[in-house]
Amino acid sequence: MRSATFARRMALVKKWGFSPVSLDKLYEQHQAGQYNKNTLVITIDDGWAAIEQGMLPTLKKFGFNATLYLSTYFVFNQRPIFKLSCFYLFWKHKRPFIMANNSCLKPYTDAKELTVHQLLQLSAQLGSASEQTILLELAACFGEDIQRWPQTGKFMFLTPEKVSELAEQGLAIELHTHRHKFSELNLQDAAVEITNNRAYISQLTGKNPQHFCYPSGEYHSEQLNILNELNIKTATTTENELVNKRRGLLTLPRLVDSDRVSELEFEAELTGVMTLLRAAVATFKRGDR
Ligand SMILES: [Zn+2]
Repeated sequence: MRSATFARRMALVKKWGFSPVSLDKLYEQHQAGQYNKNTLVITIDDGWAAIEQGMLPTLKKFGFNATLYLSTYFVFNQRPIFKLSCFYLFWKHKRPFIMANNSCLKPYTDAKELTVHQLLQLSAQLGSASEQTILLELAACFGEDIQRWPQTGKFMFLTPEKVSELAEQGLAIELHTHRHKFSELNLQDAAVEITNNRAYISQLTGKNPQHFCYPSGEYHSEQLNILNELNIKTATTTENELVNKRRGLLTLPRLVDSDRVSELEFEAELTGVMTLLRAAVATFKRGDR
């Protein structure tokens, strides 16, 4: 989302009288049996460095509470995020990648040049240890100075120091797994992802995070037990809906906002008009049968 769009959204949230609160407050209201009418929780996923310039000044300006669901692996392993960097380079230069004779990919293909999808397929076979080498080859081919990306924060995650600083300024840092993996893992590995994530966040913030967001919003129902065992208070999906008091705390829906959502749709979602419409369509379909 562009920072200008985010700033406009926050101005609307202010204008319409919502009060952004922490997830702890949301949890308290749920336990008390009733959400306050204008309760709103602002959540940001993953931990991109760009949120510092793009979102935090606006949040500060309005004095809004916000929560960052942080995946910690790329905080501690500072390098440009591979897949996104590849898409960006191919998009910017609008041509295939021509492999040098000494390319690390040569032994795995007869092709002389690759599209982004062919490249990603090949690199998946090689594993994540080769990603940085491949990215450097791409940068050489396209004439990009990616050595400078870490300083500019391009396609990078927040640094450990920055996470600590933002937490101190009041941004709530919560769980999103260490490696942004959950639904594809078995129960034990999924639990380890959260435990590791929690340990790293505690190290950075001095707090014990108790709220979770499913990576990509995906989970299996048997995985909910893990969250209970780990004393997770709330867990958030990407199901586009408003929260109501009948919803379980471990499968909270939320409105996923982006540049593709118009201001009118944003208003319709926040005010519950879209919830009513979806319910009406569901009733109509049931009646149809
Ligand atoms: Zn995510």
